[in-house]
Amino acid sequence: MKKITLLLLAGLLLQTASAQKTKNVIVVTFDGYRWQELFQGPQQSLLEREKFTKNKETLTQKYVGNSLEESRKKLTPFLWGEVAAKGLIFGNKKAGSKMTITNGHKFSYPGYSEIFCGWGDKKINSNDYPNNPHQTIFDFLEQQPDFAKKTAAVGTWDAFTRIINTSRNKVPVFVEFRKDSTGTILSKDNKSFTQYQTNIPIASKLCESDTLTYRFAKEYFHRNKPRFFFVGFDETDHFAHSGQYDNYLDAAHTLDSYLADLWNYVQTTEEYKDKTTLIVTCDHGRGSNVGSQWRHHGQPVPGAEYIWMAMIGPDTPAKGELKAIHHYHQNQIAQTIAHLLGKEFTADHFIGKAIDSVFSK
Ligand SMILES: [Zn+2]
Repeated sequence: MKKITLLLLAGLLLQTASAQKTKNVIVVTFDGYRWQELFQGPQQSLLEREKFTKNKETLTQKYVGNSLEESRKKLTPFLWGEVAAKGLIFGNKKAGSKMTITNGHKFSYPGYSEIFCGWGDKKINSNDYPNNPHQTIFDFLEQQPDFAKKTAAVGTWDAFTRIINTSRNKVPVFVEFRKDSTGTILSKDNKSFTQYQTNIPIASKLCESDTLTYRFAKEYFHRNKPRFFFVGFDETDHFAHSGQYDNYLDAAHTLDSYLADLWNYVQTTEEYKDKTTLIVTCDHGRGSNVGSQWRHHGQPVPGAEYIWMAMIGPDTPAKGELKAIHHYHQNQIAQTIAHLLGKEFTADHFIGKAIDSVFSK
C-alpha cells in the first residue's frame, strides 16, 4: 500500500515537472521605472509641480482615474489589464510586497548584471565596468544544445554588450540605434527598419530611441525566433533624470503599448503561442516624491533599491497582484528564468533561488 502511494506520488511529481509548458522566455526592462507609478499611477504631488509637469490637465485626463486601481490601469493598461489579470505582479512596497536589489549600488550596470547573473556582486560598481566577468543566464543557455544560438538581446543602452559580454559568448546584442548608423547594423537584410527610422514622428520626441529599439527588437524576434530574448528600454530613466515627470509617464505608457504589441505577436505566432513566458522588471528604483528625489537613484538615494516584477505565461498562475508579506530579490530572476525553461542554472558563483510563487498554483 505504502509502496503504491509512493509510486503514485513519484508519478505525480514527474508529471508536474514535465508539465512545464514554457519553451521560450522574454525579459523586458523599463529602466529605473518606480514601483510608485506602477502600483499607484501618477503621483499627485508630482503632477502639481510645474517644474516637473508642464501639462497637468492633459496628463490627468489621460492617466488619472477615480481610484488608484483605475489610475494605474490607465497609465500602463497592458500590465494591469492583461499581465496582472492573467498572471502576477509584485513589488508594491506599500502593500507589503517587497522586491529589492542586493548589489547595493542602485544603478544600471550592477542591476542588469544581477538580473542576468542571479548574483548582485558588489564589485561590479560602475556603469563603465568592462566586460562582465561572471557567467550569465545567456552563457548558461548558450551552452545548452536546445538553446545554442537561440538567445539574443536588443537594448537602447550601449552597455548591454558589456553586461551580457557578447565578446565571450557571441550572443547577438543590438544597442543604441540613435547614435550608430542604423544602416551599418541593419542594411544588409533589413530595409524595413531603416524606413522606420525615417518615419518616426519628430513632433512627439517621445520614446524616440525606445521606439527604434522596439521596432528592431520585434523585427529580430520575428525573423530569428530566439528562445530567450531580452529587450532593454531606457527612456523612463532618461526622462526621470531630466526632471520631466510628464514625459516619464508618457514613456511608461508607450512602453506598455510595446509590451501589448509584442505579446499579441507572441500569442498569434505558432512558435510562441501558449509556450512563452514574459517577464517585465527594472534594474533599480528611484527616490521618493519628496523634493527632487524621484529623479535620482544610486547608493545615497533612499528607496532606490526597491524594484518590481510582472509575469505572464502558460505556467504562471493568475494570482494578480501579490499583496502578502514577502521579500523577493533581483538575484532570483535568473534562476526563475531557468526553472521556467525546465533547467537548473549553474555557474561558478552564487545564484539566488527561483521565486516560488511563480510556480505554485
Ligand atoms: Zn539612471
